[in-house]
Amino acid sequence: MRKVTLIPGDGIGPEVINSCVKVIEATGLGIEFEQVDAGAKVMEKEGTPLPDAVLDSIRKNKVALKGPITTPVASGFRSVNVALRKALDLYANLRPARSFEGIKSRYENIDIVVVRENTEGLYAGIERYTKKDKSEGETIRIITKKASERIARFAFEYARKEKRKKITAVHKANILKITDGIFLESVRRISKEFPEIEFEDRIVDNMCMQLVKKPELYDILLAPNLFGDIISDLCAGLVGGLGIAPSANIGDKIAVFEPVHGSAPKYAGLDKVNPTATILAGVLMLKYLGEKKAADSIERAVAEALKEGKKLTYDLGGNAKTSEFTDYVISKIL
Ligand code: NAD
Repeated sequence: MRKVTLIPGDGIGPEVINSCVKVIEATGLGIEFEQVDAGAKVMEKEGTPLPDAVLDSIRKNKVALKGPITTPVASGFRSVNVALRKALDLYANLRPARSFEGIKSRYENIDIVVVRENTEGLYAGIERYTKKDKSEGETIRIITKKASERIARFAFEYARKEKRKKITAVHKANILKITDGIFLESVRRISKEFPEIEFEDRIVDNMCMQLVKKPELYDILLAPNLFGDIISDLCAGLVGGLGIAPSANIGDKIAVFEPVHGSAPKYAGLDKVNPTATILAGVLMLKYLGEKKAADSIERAVAEALKEGKKLTYDLGGNAKTSEFTDYVISKIL
């Protein structure tokens, strides 16, 4: 039986992961989930938020489904998410944002995929105080030709496979002439190998404005790490919020699937948040595993449940619990 590593995570993680697992099990697919724990609670018990057993399990199973993990702000342990992506070389972060009928948002018919470089940029984690009294600090932003070409090739191959028409590279090469210059030149070079896919670029500040004014003009957005992180939340906001935004972290042999959102600690244990983002992360995982029938069946069930609007969670204007929405989706799986 196919084994997948399961990391429930912190805060609302265990609830949304439980929903996703129940929905996948309802398709009748024989997937065995091997649970390992990472995050803030594990840190208290084991002195590390990312025990070796977690990496070992993912390396063995090659695929993981993961809930959000809390990262302390301004101090405390470093992000487990960033550490996982680096340790497993999950260099491509895929974040689709699409409109669903029934979800009230300011825009309709949006279908954007953000492809974010996932291993370097400002997330390389090279940071230090430059004064003894800690009144000044610096962060080093690393961009390499190798990683930029690799993510560009991933994005263009993804576009070709998914029959997408256009890639827009997002950067700040007017100011960050060296680092984003390397990124942009690398992407331009790779784009020549894919003449059937339209290629253009935008400076990140203009990109944000364009996305709010004319989001329907965009198809795939390709960005370095931090810009990709920020614009993917913006894109999630265009289609109804973080409650419905899934994400895949993909490397050459290993992939980890998770919602875009964080651990929303204030809602933990309340059976209140929207599990759709995690269920759709499960759909991305099933497609990656080649289980298209089950993936399509879940996607259809989610789309129908959202369109009918009888059991929506609070973020989409309803008052259904996480578990009620989950059961409703399951009732629609054929
Ligand atoms: P968050 O995503 O947890 O919350 C942002 C807002 O979205 C909040 O109002 C929250 O209530 C809402 N929200 C999030 N998920 C929702 C859902 N499923 N349904 C309905 N509403 C939802 O972001 P934050 O508050 O900035 O971060 C909280 C913690 O999560 C931090 O420690 C952060 O580092 C961590 N985080 C982890 C990941 C990850 O594990 N990949 C990603 C982002 C943030």
